[in-house]
Amino acid sequence: MQRTLVLIKPDAMKRRLAGRILTRLEDKGLALVGLKIMQVTPDLAKQHYAEHVAKPFYPELEEFITSGPVVAICLEGPEAITVTRGMMGKTNGRESAPGTIRGDFGMSRQLNLIHGSDSPEASDREIPLYFSDEELVGSTDGMVGTFFAGD
Ligand code: UDP
Repeated sequence: MQRTLVLIKPDAMKRRLAGRILTRLEDKGLALVGLKIMQVTPDLAKQHYAEHVAKPFYPELEEFITSGPVVAICLEGPEAITVTRGMMGKTNGRESAPGTIRGDFGMSRQLNLIHGSDSPEASDREIPLYFSDEELVGSTDGMVGTFFAGD
């Protein structure tokens, strides 16, 4: 079992797409273990996007990610990181395949609707930025036999 940090970004919130995005992730079989609506602060943005802070696009990225509320989600499932990244599509919506969230709903490299951790190291770092231990429920191993066979 693996956990991943997902954000439904401010552009998706403004477009009222939160429910549809969450439905896709749940339909796939990923389990909700943490969920809340919140405002990302400039300080949190700098921690979250530490690897990008020095890049030319960072000021606009911070302005975007702090421009309205996000839904923060912790998902659990087998290979949850890779499964979620596949469902998201490529960073640039114009290059994302139809059938992916970014491919179906967006045309932008910046306003790309959703964040998902890109590695186990990233999810280990990102989940505690958004959730305390008390805000996460326990393991969902009971899903075995519902959406997958433990394989
Ligand atoms: N981004 C941007 N301009 C760029 C590259 C990325 O505004 O040239 C934004 C975009 O919202 C992206 C986020 O910065 O989702 C983080 O970039 P990353 O390369 O980590 O993409 P992701 O993992 O989200 O696909």
